[in-house]
Amino acid sequence: MTNVVGRSSGGKDVSGMPKKILILMSDTGGGHRASAEAISEAIAHLYGDEITVRIVDAWKDYSPWPLNRVGDTYPWLVSDGLWLWNTLWRTDDKTWPPTVISRVIIPFVRRSAVRMFRSEAPDLVVSVHPLINHIPLRVLRKGLKTDIPYVTVVTDMVTAHPAWFCREVDYCLVPTEAARQRALRYGMPPERVEVVGQPVGLKFAAGVGEKLYLRGKLGLDLDRPAVLIVGGGEGMGPVYETARAIAAEASNAQLIVVAGRNASLKQKLEETAWEIPTHVYGFVTNMPELMGASDMLVTKAGPGTLSEAFIAGLPVIISSFIPGQEEGNVRYVLEHQAGAYAPDPAEVARLVGKWLHSDDDTLGQMAANAAALAHPDATLIIARRLHHLLTEKQVARPITPRTGSRRARVRIFSRARTLSRARTLPRARTWPRAGTWRALRRRLSRRLGLRHFVGRS
Ligand code: UDP
Repeated sequence: MTNVVGRSSGGKDVSGMPKKILILMSDTGGGHRASAEAISEAIAHLYGDEITVRIVDAWKDYSPWPLNRVGDTYPWLVSDGLWLWNTLWRTDDKTWPPTVISRVIIPFVRRSAVRMFRSEAPDLVVSVHPLINHIPLRVLRKGLKTDIPYVTVVTDMVTAHPAWFCREVDYCLVPTEAARQRALRYGMPPERVEVVGQPVGLKFAAGVGEKLYLRGKLGLDLDRPAVLIVGGGEGMGPVYETARAIAAEASNAQLIVVAGRNASLKQKLEETAWEIPTHVYGFVTNMPELMGASDMLVTKAGPGTLSEAFIAGLPVIISSFIPGQEEGNVRYVLEHQAGAYAPDPAEVARLVGKWLHSDDDTLGQMAANAAALAHPDATLIIARRLHHLLTEKQVARPITPRTGSRRARVRIFSRARTLSRARTLPRARTWPRAGTWRALRRRLSRRLGLRHFVGRS
């Protein structure tokens, strides 16, 4: 029978301590952090202090140089470096590259991954990033020999990269049926894959609010139709050009333009003399309000923004997409007639003008189609699944946390080393013998997690 170590059936362990979930992400785009924060928020909402959650950027916070710069290269990769991004993506329909690449990288990151897991000491690990599945799972299972549950929450809607899918995970939660099919194609056991929707903030699940009220609150014109333009968390794509084209075409509209973290874009937008009322924002935290106040959304095909637009029932014009992971999102929107794809700013402006002036109910129909794709409860379902695993999985080998300060560990080790080097004593009086000291040192080092000293005698 499996021995359950230190676990009770509730959310806390037998010592009454809250259980801990570690969410691993990386700041490549805004979506992964937004998903991690949404899951954390839902867990806090449902389970209060029964469960604590830590969100960690595994590459930035716990990897050696240059791997800790992976996130910083992303904005360049998906703009000027698109040729390289495309090349990387051509590994698309094969399962071996993630496995091989992770084996090549593991020797460089193993120690920092062990350090991360020992100092965080989670009871369950969640990954919301395609590049954080194979390596940490291998370190947990082979390095630390622990069987704590590992869950992948896939945040790409359709064309998810094979690196997302690691068949050894306990559970893989995906946003759409198309993503589930992809998971199965890449070898995930069907019983471990579930379609739950995209994790988005609870403020979306609570409803985006009444349009006129929100327009008043945001200081917008109450009567003009509002077009919201977003380029993901980083303000990517032809946001400026698109806004200019719409302003020239749709004289009866008003614009809400979100530049995200793109400070130079924000400045350029602010310095422009606009033909129609235009409200420029940097990185916003009230996206549900902006969506609720709008009549349509112009965006790059980010899965987070699209899923939020579905909940808000907003027709979407996709103006750009990142090759690879966002390609399928364009198809998804078109297939479900929730919007259109227009890669050219002039074409976007023409569509906006047409939809706003159309006598038939094109906008209304697309809004209804978008709303039919919404999964407002996705994040709460994910939180429940995590709680279930946390309380039901019979964990035989939890992670042994690292205790005491590093300084204390080093002091203890130094004493042991000094003692073992006490060769001034007459040989006959040396006790225990040198071999015994070596064994003691080894045991002490292992116990303290000082792996690099083990075997250095
Ligand atoms: N977002 C935000 N404030 C902003 C811009 C974007 O909160 O000013 C959020 C947006 O609501 C979405 C996420 O950032 O949740 C962007 O994720 P998406 O997957 O659309 O694109 P990414 O930035 O990851 O490419």
